Amino acid sequence: MSTQLRALVTGVSRGIGRAIALRLAAQGYAVAGCYSSDSEAAAKTQAEVAAFGVPVYAAACDVADPAAVDEFVGAAEERLGPISCLVNNAGITRDSPLVLATEQDWQAVLSTNLTGTWNLCRAMTFRFMKRRAGVVVNMSSVAGVYGNAGQTAYAASKAGIVGLSRSLAKEVAGYGIRVNVVAPGFIETDMTDALAGQLRDQALSQIPLGRFGRPEEVAELVAFLCSDRAGYVTGQVFQVDGGITL
Ligand code: NAP
Repeated sequence: MSTQLRALVTGVSRGIGRAIALRLAAQGYAVAGCYSSDSEAAAKTQAEVAAFGVPVYAAACDVADPAAVDEFVGAAEERLGPISCLVNNAGITRDSPLVLATEQDWQAVLSTNLTGTWNLCRAMTFRFMKRRAGVVVNMSSVAGVYGNAGQTAYAASKAGIVGLSRSLAKEVAGYGIRVNVVAPGFIETDMTDALAGQLRDQALSQIPLGRFGRPEEVAELVAFLCSDRAGYVTGQVFQVDGGITL
């Protein structure tokens, strides 16, 4: 068997997930990626990853659906070989003040962001334990660490990811598996494009570095955490936020 590195990344069609897929491909990783529904954007990412000369597999898979996740993980390993690195990046927002929020918003955000992360962790962890190796990077948010008005569901889901990741890190460290969390601040993607002018200006005024981050700047940290250079790092939360929480 070759020493090919293989990563499974969720939410690769756009934004941060796409940047992670490309960053890992540039480093020689084979990439399995899933997305929700934007097959056109996913095909573009797939072609961009393939241009690095690495194997790639992309498919629609709702991370909130455990059966779909099991099927996707099985298909990914069948096509590419054993995955060495799992990046749980897929996520959604449904922002509104709590008093205006609906139960559907709550359920959608929790099931995609938190249950989705748990589903992928569960599907991959037993495989990692049998191999006594593996890396997990879970995408949280500064909202999950500090809270954010208008984002009770989103912040709860992202705080849950921190608790999940720290607990899993303790459970599986003895198997040589590392689990870490990346918590971005405002990053230029479709997710933050939705911010109206005044909200955007208000956010910018709170960022010491004076700008939103780029998806590639998050991907750089994820690539480091996936690598052996982070071999003694587990159970930690790393913020990429331009200093907004200082
Ligand atoms: P984005 O541009 O909106 O992209 C979201 C990605 O997730 C898309 O590929 C989407 O697929 C996929 N996705 C959504 N629901 C899914 C589901 N149920 N199953 C599978 N895939 C699903 O988001 P982003 O800004 O890149 O954010 C990526 C991650 O970083 C998220 O977890 C987000 O919470 C976190 N984050 C982002 C920011 C920011 O400022 N952008 C800040 C902090 C944290 P489709 O294209 O098919 O819809």
